[in-house]
Amino acid sequence: MRDLEELKQRQRAFVAERDWEQFHSPKNLAMALAVEAAELVELFQWLTEQQSAAPDEALRRRAAEELADVLWFLVRIADRLDIDLLAAAGEKFAENERKYPAARVRGQSRKYDEY
Ligand SMILES: [Mg+2]
Repeated sequence: MRDLEELKQRQRAFVAERDWEQFHSPKNLAMALAVEAAELVELFQWLTEQQSAAPDEALRRRAAEELADVLWFLVRIADRLDIDLLAAAGEKFAENERKYPAARVRGQSRKYDEY
């Protein structure tokens, strides 16, 4: 798959063919997105920092599957809400550059309002 637009168009066809639009309310999609993110978290839940930083091939494959699930619901809910994901990400990126100027926050992990 080449880009988010292709994924969105393929999702629309996949969902329409199965008559699943009726289940894809923003509420349901947000819940599904959170569930898939939790499945990703579960893979790393009891690992040490070192283990999580050096996953074996099986764990990497399972993480890829959960990341794909997260992306699926992320793109689907954005489509349902008519939100341009990359435009929204660009705006958020600019906001984070303002909130976290490198010269002030370099090497620190505190939240922007704690500086
Ligand atoms: Mg999953």
